Amino acid sequence: MASTTGTASKTTRIKKLSDSERMRDLVSFTFKTYEGDSPNPFGCDIINTKTDERLVRCVNGVGIENDPSSHGEVRAMRLGCKKLKTPSLRGYTLFTTCEPCPMCMSMALWAGVDRVVYGATIDDAARHCFQIYLSAREVAAKGDMPRPVVTGPIEQELAYSLFTHPKMLAAFRVWMKGKRRKLVT
Ligand SMILES: [Zn+2]
Repeated sequence: MASTTGTASKTTRIKKLSDSERMRDLVSFTFKTYEGDSPNPFGCDIINTKTDERLVRCVNGVGIENDPSSHGEVRAMRLGCKKLKTPSLRGYTLFTTCEPCPMCMSMALWAGVDRVVYGATIDDAARHCFQIYLSAREVAAKGDMPRPVVTGPIEQELAYSLFTHPKMLAAFRVWMKGKRRKLVT
């Protein structure tokens, strides 16, 4: 039931974070994975576009789940949809420390997210690990469903520092071992 108890109702509104503030917060969360043995530069938030409340926060789960599709964005959207008990994320914004790959961006279209906000770019990530060279905006333009607004790069230098951290550079060497790819070291 709607509550309309005078003009002062619902004044406990959460202060909305700017995209930069949100990205900085997400990068610092993602850096927490560097405290353990499995650093991972791909962190995601799903945020209610209107209220700014966070629905889900996670990092890439490919290694721990032995699932090549468990990129941070896919994982976040799966968790978010399960939490909402709906296959739609309309009304939500996906924040990610790195521009979504075509797989993740396709899922963002299928899920109907309002916005996608990213930190580092696919080109940034490609200096360290395999990528498919199709930008998030190019994927968005190919769908005939409502297109999410794509914003980025935001706080690119900071987000990219996730990739150039010595611990992550060492992890990339292990990730890419024997895969014949020249890396930034
Ligand atoms: Zn992806």
